[in-house]
Parts: sequence; C-alpha cells; structure tokens
Amino acid sequence: MSTPISTLLFAEAQTLLPGGVNSPVRAFNSVGGTPRFISHGQGAYFWDEDGNRYLDYVGSWGPLIHGHAPAFVHDAVRAQLDKGTSYGAPTRLEVEMARAVIEAVPSIEMVRMVNSGTEAVMGALRVARGFTGRRKIIKFAGCYHGHADGLLVQAGSGALTLGIPDSAGVTPAQTQDTISANYNDIEGTRALIRELGHELACVAVEPLPANMGLVKPKAGFLEMLREETEQTGALLLFDEVMTGFRLAKGGFQEVVGITPDLTTLGKIIGGGFPVGAYGGRRDIMSCVAPAGPVYQAGTLSGNPIAMTAGLVTINALNADSYARLEALGARLEKGFERILSDLRIEAQFQRWGSMWTLFFNPNPVESFADAKQSDTKKFGQFFHAMLERGVYLPPAQFEAAFLSLAHTEDEVDMTLQAARESLETLT
Ligand SMILES: *Cc1c(COP(=O)(O)O)cnc(C)c1O
Repeated sequence: MSTPISTLLFAEAQTLLPGGVNSPVRAFNSVGGTPRFISHGQGAYFWDEDGNRYLDYVGSWGPLIHGHAPAFVHDAVRAQLDKGTSYGAPTRLEVEMARAVIEAVPSIEMVRMVNSGTEAVMGALRVARGFTGRRKIIKFAGCYHGHADGLLVQAGSGALTLGIPDSAGVTPAQTQDTISANYNDIEGTRALIRELGHELACVAVEPLPANMGLVKPKAGFLEMLREETEQTGALLLFDEVMTGFRLAKGGFQEVVGITPDLTTLGKIIGGGFPVGAYGGRRDIMSCVAPAGPVYQAGTLSGNPIAMTAGLVTINALNADSYARLEALGARLEKGFERILSDLRIEAQFQRWGSMWTLFFNPNPVESFADAKQSDTKKFGQFFHAMLERGVYLPPAQFEAAFLSLAHTEDEVDMTLQAARESLETLT
C-alpha cells in the first residue's frame, strides 16, 4: 500500500510550519496519529487528499452552522468578489452587519468588527479597562479567550492562582492583572470579586464553556457574576465567540436571560471567513477610537467578503434552525445514552443544542478540574475508531463537537452506529 497523501503532506508540513499546522489542535497531538489534509467539503461532509470522506463534527471549530460550501453563501461571496475584496474605507455592508448583530443581541448597542475572536477579546478587555479605569480581570480555568498574552493564564485545580503564565514567551508582567477562578465555583468567585472590589475591571467568561469540552453553568453561577460585578462596578464580558448565533440568535445570554455589559463574537458571524466582533453598552463602546480614547484599529476589519458571508449566514438563521439543531442534538444524545448504558461505559454525554462532548469520565464535568479527570487515552482510541468509520470528531477530549444544519437524522443514526462499534472496541 502506498503512503497516504495526508502523511506525505504532513511530513513536508512539519519541515515548513511549526508542528506542521497553523493552529495547534489540528495536529492531532492529543489523539496521536497523522492529521488528515482536507481537499474539499460539501454539506455535512469533507474529503481528505486521499479521497476519504468524513462526516464532519468540527465545522471549522464552529463557524459552519450551515455545513460546508452552502450555495447561498458562496453565491453572495462571488457577487461581492466581483466588486473588490477590500477598500479601507467604510461600506454599507458594515452598517448592515452592525444592525444585524445589534438586532439579534439586545445587550449590544454598538459593535466593532475585527478579524478574529482573539482580537475581539483583546479589544473588549482594553475598553473594559479604559472605561472603568481599573486593571484587574478575572477569567476562569479552562475557558479560552484566544491567545492574547494576558489571557494565557489558568488556575491550578483547586486553589485560585494569581497570574502564572500558561505559555512560554508570556511574562509575569503581562499576566499579573489576570486572576484565574474556577468555573461554577459560586462562593469562591463571589468572594474573589468582593476582595478585588474597585480594582476589578472585568469578569470574562464563556457563559457556556466549550473549550474544556462542553460544560454547563450551575444554576445561579452566571446570575452571581451579574450581581457581583454590578455591585463592584466591574464589567461582565460574555465571550460568545463560540456560542453566538449557535444556540439562539441572541447567543447564550438570550437562552439564560442575563445581560452582560460586553460581548465578543466570532466564528459564525464570519460565515467561514476570518472575523471577530466586540460590542455592548453604548456608553462603554463610545470609549473606542475614534469616538473615544481607547485605541483599536484594523486594516482588514469589516472586510467586505467576510461581512457578506457573515451576513447571509446569520440572516439565514431563524427559530426553525435552532429547533432543528436541538432535535438533531437530542436524537444524538438519546442514542449515545442508550449505547453507554448498553455497553456499561462510564462516560458523560454533555450537550447544549448542537454542541456536545463525550467525556470519558465517570462523573459529570462541571469545571476544568473535573474535565482533567477524563481518560484522554480512551478518548484518543474512540476518536481514531470513529475516524476509521468516516466520522471526524474534534481531535481532543477538551473540545466541543458541532452539528450543522446540513446534518440529517440519517447522519446522526450513522454516527450512532459508528459510535456503538467504536465504543465496543474499547471495552
Ligand atoms: C475560538 C474562540 C476564541 C478565539 O477566536 P479566534 O478566532 O480563534 O481567535 C475566543 N473565545 C472563544 C470562546 C472561542 O471559542
């Protein structure tokens, strides 16, 4: 048998790109093996360079809610392409995008478009500090907010840890104002917010964390963040880069009925192109340059191709879309629960709408400390068994998988069949 093209490409890529990839988790480091190099996608599927077809549950890590290569998005992009790709001057499309976002997400009264989720969070925290005149921020262990220096901090399990950088190249000075707390720790976080008091500029949280695998908020946790930040005059930032337009048009904040001061968006609002956005209360966003003193700029920000793809993507979403994604998710969940019980496997299928994670963990996962108790070796075996059966899951235990509107009941059932076979090989 000849060597797969993906294997050859990966060997060459490793000599040209650090780790052979442009973003770490693509490299399969936590599941082992060779990443597949993708040649094209259509609907719920994509194909690798060797012609193997996979049912895709990554969806480019969230953006592709309509599946791969939806005709209506591509037609709109093609039409815009003929008019130019970037002008460095304002366009009607940016006004339309701002209006669409503001109409969908009531807490956002003004918005700034940027080029990635990372950039969105950087901008949001800068304006939070500029607006409050305070320095400290709280984030939660296991929550990911992009790769900005000040956010690459994570608590050790248990104790709250002060500003220890997570990455080489990040100095203690860059993280000294970042305090890590534990997601779902209501009393610990309340005490921390009170202790920081008027030093605290912002609490940043993924309201529904999906970057430690999918974890749900305990009753009262997000409400406590809202109350306590309001008390101390700190801002509450919901990082909805992943959850924005994924669970409801108004994001997870609509689902839980909590109004943050600032919100970050990305992924779906770019329709598969590089985009991020931050927005919130008018008085806060009025601090952003050129309206105010908080500087932030971007050569390609509000890019007309990305705006076009994002606009048609979000305009095509309605209550029916979310009902359909919920129905597909529920079918998948029911099937998985059945399989786990039939095979007597101690694992947790955690899901919200179209987002899900199968944790190889005997107990429900409510925090990063819990998530870390998962059997990542078993996950790796499961991942490869699924891949062999043509189902492409996120190649890491601590990631959420996504259903898209291109998935059907048949594809869910095929996934369940593959999962049953795969899990049988583990027992
Ligand atoms: C993906 C993600 C980011 C980073 O977005 P990029 O576009 O990859 O920079 C930030 N926050 C959350 C919650 C995300 O899921």
